[in-house]
Amino acid sequence: MVMCCWASMTEAEYFKYKDPKQPIGIRIKDLMKRMTLEEKIGQMTQIDRTVASNEVIKKYMMGSVLSGGGSVPAKHASPETWVDMVNDFQKGALSTRLGIPLIYGIDAVHGHNNVYKATIFPHNVGLGVTRDPALVKKIGAATALEVRATGIQYAFAPCIAVCRDPRWGRCFESYSEDPKIVKLMTEIIPGLQGDIPAGSRKGVPFVGGQDKIAACAKHYLGDGGTHLGINEGNTIIDAKGLFSIHMPAYYDAVIKGVATIMTSYSSWNGVKMHANRYLVTDFLKNKLNFRGFVISDWQGIDRITTPEHANYTYSIIAGMNTGIDMFMVPYNYTEFIDGLTYLVKNKFISMSRVDDAVKRILRVKFTMGLFENPLADYSMTKYLGSQEHRDLAREAVRKTLVLLKNGKSSKKPLLPLPKKASKILVAGAHADNLGYQCGGWTIEWQGLSGDITDGTTILSAVKKAVDPKTQVVYNENPSENFVKSAKFDYAIVVVGEHPYAETFGDSLNLTIPEPGPSTIKNVCGSVKCVVVLISGRPVVMQPYVNTIDALVAAWLPGTEGQGVTDVLFGDYGFTGKLAHTWFKSVDQLPMNVGDQHYDPLYPFGFGLTTKPAKNL
Ligand code: BGC
Repeated sequence: MVMCCWASMTEAEYFKYKDPKQPIGIRIKDLMKRMTLEEKIGQMTQIDRTVASNEVIKKYMMGSVLSGGGSVPAKHASPETWVDMVNDFQKGALSTRLGIPLIYGIDAVHGHNNVYKATIFPHNVGLGVTRDPALVKKIGAATALEVRATGIQYAFAPCIAVCRDPRWGRCFESYSEDPKIVKLMTEIIPGLQGDIPAGSRKGVPFVGGQDKIAACAKHYLGDGGTHLGINEGNTIIDAKGLFSIHMPAYYDAVIKGVATIMTSYSSWNGVKMHANRYLVTDFLKNKLNFRGFVISDWQGIDRITTPEHANYTYSIIAGMNTGIDMFMVPYNYTEFIDGLTYLVKNKFISMSRVDDAVKRILRVKFTMGLFENPLADYSMTKYLGSQEHRDLAREAVRKTLVLLKNGKSSKKPLLPLPKKASKILVAGAHADNLGYQCGGWTIEWQGLSGDITDGTTILSAVKKAVDPKTQVVYNENPSENFVKSAKFDYAIVVVGEHPYAETFGDSLNLTIPEPGPSTIKNVCGSVKCVVVLISGRPVVMQPYVNTIDALVAAWLPGTEGQGVTDVLFGDYGFTGKLAHTWFKSVDQLPMNVGDQHYDPLYPFGFGLTTKPAKNL
């Protein structure tokens, strides 16, 4: 009997991997040597909440569960319900032979957006406008607290796509068309995960403590550069273009210790990113020394073939040999598990590749203290939708607004608007619709309409902002006659896109839906008006700009509508500058700053300013 570290224990009984005093490398090594192939493959599998249960997790020794597309345990689920659900799954994992905790992931892409009553921050398209890394870092830290409040430890964020074409349905998830701005915004990663300790080795993941979560930079690589902006499409570009436009933010994400990176559904010059070994293994893992884990997108390996799932043996081999470590929802997880087991046992896939994947997953789990603190309690639920976070979101909204036009002549600016007026009109379907204001990836995958969670619509914010004697009239789509006969001092027209996510947002015409254009026409033709545009990207505006007195791009501001009125009424000035080029007509697309034929309606970097009003 060999006496080991604790006097009363044998070496066999002393589970080094469970000892937090041991260095992480030793813990990984110790655990790896105890694991069977089945246990390793379990770690590499991530299944959706809707098919997970304590028993399934235990049976397959699953490494991870997710709320895909935001699948929630129940409509309006409380944070306690989330904690109980995640804990129940976790108990399944802890009751396995080796008790390896699972990691639970969710798309917290603008705050903890799937969760009722959470603070919803502006989408990335607005945040890029701020060019303010300190602000996004704070947003990351607030998001981490709200995610932890529900017992979850992992977010599939940030999306560091460089959107080169607004026809892409995910352009609102992109900070900018400019790689430098996207790179700057990777500062959200230390917000989510914590700052890497000084002297850390480059590429080693770091997640610091129980108030932080593992982040996921996505979608690697070139997701925002596809031909015609087609979601999951083909990015046709030479290596120089790929590396100078789409790669820079990944360098920074890796340097900042990002825990995970998600491969993109899209292709580079016809090769699917889920099957691109050069970019994933040779470049990201070997050259950049990324030591966290690479996760596939949802059924990402199934989509390597056309039609999907046509040759699963090929897909598993290709995905594994590409360097994917964790497989998000392989089409049918038992088929994936059985297939991978067979392929490894028969040496179509090497054991060393499996070990590489598992080591990476375990490294993230050890780093973030999951083995020591696998279960959540209710002590953090107070952070969900806290006043402090709402104040931060409101500040962010103020900084995301871009003033594109202010008055028919620069001598007669319309903004800031006077708070004292006798009668003002608020119009437009987006004025009193929190769902529209938040966009896709809010409560549900595709977003929703109406009163979907706690927050302040722009109409309520206007009512709070103006002088108590000012009469505020709301009419969603008033007729010209109505506007003419009512004698308003001015009108605020809030129109724009309806929520969407992923492919559902792809648009070749980029027009805003009716009645938006008629509302603009009916109101702005008859009274001085400011149009506040709610959209996930630049949209067709040229036909209307001459009618409009003032135009504000508010993007998808989220739950804190008061951020918009803070600036409209001059408590704060406009400071935002476009981070995406505003085209005149869609046949100019793609058109990005630096292009030879650059003739936009509003160029990249454009944004008028106002000073805060005096004597408020
Ligand atoms: C999206 C990812 C997302 C995943 C999980 C996929 O369809 O492309 O961005 O993280 O679903 O919901």
